[in-house]
Amino acid sequence: MTPKLRCRAAAFALIVAVASFSPAAAAARPAATSAAPAAPRAVAKPRIKFDPIPYDHARKRQMAAYSRRHYGEREWRLADPEAIVLHYTATSTYAPVFNTFAANAPSLGEKPGVCAQFVVGKDGTIHQLTRLYVRCRHTIGLNDVAIGVEMVQQSVGSRHGAERAILARRRQARAAVALVAWLKQRYRIPLKNVIGHAMANDSPLFEDLEGWRNDHVDWRAGDVREFRGRVAKLIRDSPR
Ligand SMILES: [Zn+2]
Repeated sequence: MTPKLRCRAAAFALIVAVASFSPAAAAARPAATSAAPAAPRAVAKPRIKFDPIPYDHARKRQMAAYSRRHYGEREWRLADPEAIVLHYTATSTYAPVFNTFAANAPSLGEKPGVCAQFVVGKDGTIHQLTRLYVRCRHTIGLNDVAIGVEMVQQSVGSRHGAERAILARRRQARAAVALVAWLKQRYRIPLKNVIGHAMANDSPLFEDLEGWRNDHVDWRAGDVREFRGRVAKLIRDSPR
């Protein structure tokens, strides 16, 4: 497996951190910092309905080839997710979303077809469409590191209208927040890496060797801030 630029950057930061460590610096540290860090909060796993789309060997090969072209590494597995991307479906129901993701039709002229690991219905049902360890094409530049969470919501005329509708829909918003909080804790994903599709091009994790960029407008920063606040609150309210 070719080490990726992002991984190399992380390794370099680690080397710098180790290199700058010295016994004198350690001795000068106040005693309080030697206390063990608090245990992470245990967010309960929400109820999830496994509703798998076909993800056979052919689709895995297509995903691996897509990854080779766009990320420089032939791989279909999502080994170590570092981000969660929020989307909405631009449909009013779940069924057409499942059908689109299952169809494996080319998108932007390339296979595999689009998908996301999760779709949260308006009634709060969390559908899981693939295993967590496989990649889905939901966000250009981040499919090798990000889990995609779609929320069923049709487009509306006004900017922010769709996101506001989701955030106001009690059961759906609660389910989406519970799912993201659980995924965040499970994979130790920092809150800043819970982003909206509209924010993806600006993520430090973004990479596309073919020069592709997202042109989607779902979940801009202001609405994501509100969503993150709810995730943080749920984590705060969970037991250690
Ligand atoms: Zn999207």
